Amino acid sequence: MDNFNFINFIGDIIKKYDVVVVGSGISGLLTALALSKEGKSVLILEKSDYIGGVCHSYEVEGYRLDTGPHAITRLENGPFKELMDKYFDVVPQFVPFGKYYVRIGSEIKPFPWNVNAWLKFGLIPKTDRLLLMKSLFNTLYMINTGNNLSNTPLSELLPSNISITGKRFMNWLCYFTVGTSIENTSLSRFIDNKTNKRDSVGYVGKLYDLFISEGATDQGYPKGGLQSIIRSITASFPNKKVEIRVNEEVTNIECNERVERVVTKENVYECDSVIYSGFASDLPNLVDNLPVDYAENLLSIEKINSLTVWMGLTKKIFKNYGSQMWIDSDPFAWVVPTSNYDPALAPRGNQLVGFAFILPEKYNVSKMRKKAFNSIVEIQPDIEGHIDMIHYQDLIPEKASWSINSGFGDVKTPIKNLYCVGTDTEKRSAGVSRAAYSVLRCLNLMKHDGNL
Ligand SMILES: Cc1cc2nc3c(=O)[nH]c(=O)nc-3n(C[C@H](O)[C@H](O)[C@H](O)COP(=O)(O)OP(=O)(O)OC[C@H]3O[C@@H](n4cnc5c(N)ncnc54)[C@H](O)[C@@H]3O)c2cc1C
Repeated sequence: MDNFNFINFIGDIIKKYDVVVVGSGISGLLTALALSKEGKSVLILEKSDYIGGVCHSYEVEGYRLDTGPHAITRLENGPFKELMDKYFDVVPQFVPFGKYYVRIGSEIKPFPWNVNAWLKFGLIPKTDRLLLMKSLFNTLYMINTGNNLSNTPLSELLPSNISITGKRFMNWLCYFTVGTSIENTSLSRFIDNKTNKRDSVGYVGKLYDLFISEGATDQGYPKGGLQSIIRSITASFPNKKVEIRVNEEVTNIECNERVERVVTKENVYECDSVIYSGFASDLPNLVDNLPVDYAENLLSIEKINSLTVWMGLTKKIFKNYGSQMWIDSDPFAWVVPTSNYDPALAPRGNQLVGFAFILPEKYNVSKMRKKAFNSIVEIQPDIEGHIDMIHYQDLIPEKASWSINSGFGDVKTPIKNLYCVGTDTEKRSAGVSRAAYSVLRCLNLMKHDGNL
């Protein structure tokens, strides 16, 4: 039995909580767990009729689908691991995510994680490989000389004579890590804190990684689907410390000198602090009198759109343990046979596979679905006779793209005791890891402000 009061109830009470968390995505739930374990009384308000936001699973025709295919990253020493170690009583079970395979034409090879593998990576022309190597060393040199990389597009470092295949490969990486094209991706996205050190130790360390890296070995898939992560969080809530209300949309966060009340159509809640985990770009509609510059930045955030096509197949067509990066597909696709990680996600003998596509800012839903479907059967024609189930999901994987010229939110806000968490508030990593980084930063800020 989960340790929270799941209330779907309408009334006009005013009740006082230490903290109100707006939104029950992974970032809202992780913050609620941490704060309740630190002794706070927490109310979570969620506008949908389910919890988990974009970290959710549901059944379709006997298959268990996630909200988009997921690899949970940095499970050995990342921010999500830090939160699990400190606050989870029930830990989800992760199975290894396996290799990333690159597919170009009909050939499939493991992703080249280090220089040695890259130089032998025959799917991309040899001249491209050498030119891109040179660009990489130029970039590392730029880091070491202290250049500001946040306004430098990755395309600027790309050799002009690179082949179309080489450019598509680089573009695939940008779309799936940043959500935008190579022209709009800043170099800083690919440089983590360790590399940002402008000293020779950081530089040499990165070079060493380049030569020996075996790839991301600490990534996993949660057995039972994404929902098992959400279940672990709610099962870890301390008794009677957390209340969740679904179907209750927050319409106003009332502030004076500081946060005072949270208003929904049904109720008004008094509280000491508010953690907002919805779209940062919606905050100016919820909070009156935000400073103009602050609100303008939030309103200029660019969202990422995605389409996932889930297919249930009567035959195991994707035999490799791991996922595939389809460089030729239009739009670019990431293909993840989730039932290879957990066969219980599909009826016995069948395969469940998710094809995730990153879409342009504006698109026509039915045209895109058709285009994506055609692209799948063009690249993998043997699939067509084996489709048992097909299901489409239009989702926003991250609430802000980390692209040049786009606005970005922040955990800290200009209002006392109002904090934001989620993937549009922290420019580190991606997805669940990024959400977890924002939660850790929020907890630190609350401590610093004397609220924790
Ligand atoms: C196709 C796809 C593939 C992905 N792949 C990966 C992957 O491989 N690895 C990875 O780590 N991540 C991946 N992700 C991303 C990851 O799922 C998300 O980044 C993460 O779940 C976002 O969490 P969040 O809490 O920031 O936001 P959300 O999940 O969007 O949660 C926000 C919640 O707030 C609620 N809300 C908003 N406004 C209000 C309001 N006014 N009142 C009440 N409630 C409100 C919303 O309903 C929602 O439930 C993927 C996502 C997709 C779609």
